[in-house]
Amino acid sequence: MTTILIIEDEPDLRELVSHQIEAAGMTAIGAGTGLEGLALARSKRPDLVLLDLMLPDIQGVEVCRRLRAEGATATLPIIMLTARTSEFDRVLGFETGADDYVQKPFSNRELILRVQAVLRRRGPQAEDDTVLTAPGLQVDTARHQVRVEGEEIKMTALEFRLLVTLVSRKGRVQTRQMLLEDVWGLSPDMQTRTVDTHVKRLRERLGKAGDAIETVRGVGYCFREAQDAR
Ligand code: CA
Repeated sequence: MTTILIIEDEPDLRELVSHQIEAAGMTAIGAGTGLEGLALARSKRPDLVLLDLMLPDIQGVEVCRRLRAEGATATLPIIMLTARTSEFDRVLGFETGADDYVQKPFSNRELILRVQAVLRRRGPQAEDDTVLTAPGLQVDTARHQVRVEGEEIKMTALEFRLLVTLVSRKGRVQTRQMLLEDVWGLSPDMQTRTVDTHVKRLRERLGKAGDAIETVRGVGYCFREAQDAR
């Protein structure tokens, strides 16, 4: 059974969302504070977290950072719930490692669709039952595992998606706009700086294998194809 953790301090909204989650055939668990939410994320191992940005104790952004910093919850899908609408906050949400975000007020249908979309991107898919490789790098898309020189590398769901997108299109230049649409799933009105930030972090995580991600000046990025000679 798919379990969704809802971290939201407004009881009415928390209840409404829980009800919708359960009506869609999933299990809902609720937390009214950030700290309670963190404790439940560790103990209950939910499949996805709906995280309110404004919480009474610690902010949603901080909850997100802490979840990402811990091994057990590092790749847990997170959807931010936010009343703020400025692009700054949208970008901020993504840069803290959230997978998606939904603006309040949202329709029940929109929320459930976003939850299902994020779960689908994360879940094992038949067509995804492949291991993508590059020199020193193995990306197991079914198991959501990345290995560099045989050693497993932890990364967020978003970084993983970015890596899969780049490696599966080896040798082809991906513009920042293309990456924003395909990896973030948003229209390209978001700042392209977000792509640069995540590519930088991805390169750092991959170490030497990250050198294969080339910057194409003024355009975007390209995962270099292996040289046949070696
Ligand atoms: Ca709130």
